[in-house]
Amino acid sequence: MSARITFLGTGAGGSIHRAHTAIAFECDDDTRLLLDASSGNTVARNCVQLGMAPESFHKVLLTHHHADHMSGLPLIQLVHTRSLDDGPPLEVYGPADVLHHAEYLCQVLSPNLKVDREGAMNPEGRQVMRWHNVEVGSQIQLGSSTFASCFSADHIPGAVGWTIDSGGVRVVFSGDTRFNPVMAEAGHGAHLLIHEAYALDRDQEHAAGAGHSTAGEAGRIAALAGAEELVITHVTNPFHHQPHPLINEASEHFPGPVSVAFDLRQLTVTS
Ligand SMILES: [Zn+2]
Ligand SMILES: [Zn+2]
Repeated sequence: MSARITFLGTGAGGSIHRAHTAIAFECDDDTRLLLDASSGNTVARNCVQLGMAPESFHKVLLTHHHADHMSGLPLIQLVHTRSLDDGPPLEVYGPADVLHHAEYLCQVLSPNLKVDREGAMNPEGRQVMRWHNVEVGSQIQLGSSTFASCFSADHIPGAVGWTIDSGGVRVVFSGDTRFNPVMAEAGHGAHLLIHEAYALDRDQEHAAGAGHSTAGEAGRIAALAGAEELVITHVTNPFHHQPHPLINEASEHFPGPVSVAFDLRQLTVTS
């Protein structure tokens, strides 16, 4: 079994070179989901560049309410809704606090929608978005053989990371976080561990102060989780053209393959 992962955006919040965070999953059971919503119209533009249909992603899993992870949601909904006259709503998953902020964001940015605790309805009375409250630690089913669960991240209150299990393939995503041993447990045995890195260990205090990890910490989490492969993302400007220091530092702690993501990168994970 396999899952195709597409990095639609790999830059940190202040990135001037890269799009903001969104990762597309295409699973063998036809489940198609997005991890985070990036900002602006990144998801639509970058899907189209790769020949993928942005409206075919019916499920969005959110990590937290920072603009670089969530502010693209209203525009993902718009593209999704317009693609089919009578299609299903966009299904949005996250813990209560994250969904509360998503609700507020959509109220502000999509004033023609009627947004409430259930989701959003357009002026024609069509349900265009539905919220799914996910408790930390509980597993939800997203497809015939695809499941997901979220775990607490150490970033801002309510932030989470996600573990996706699909047909024997396990992928875990840190979201934005400081060094987070909870993730090593939640993503134990991951075939692919996707971890943010904001800086190198020499700037650990600065990274932790901003709510983020170093590349060395990402490597340590990958080693603790017993992951097969580590991909670093949420890349800050100094490392855009020179990602090797991130790779070298993570590799000091993790013996498996380490790479840094870039926008439009695709990889297939097999069990
Ligand atoms: Zn971020
Ligand atoms: Zn953040």
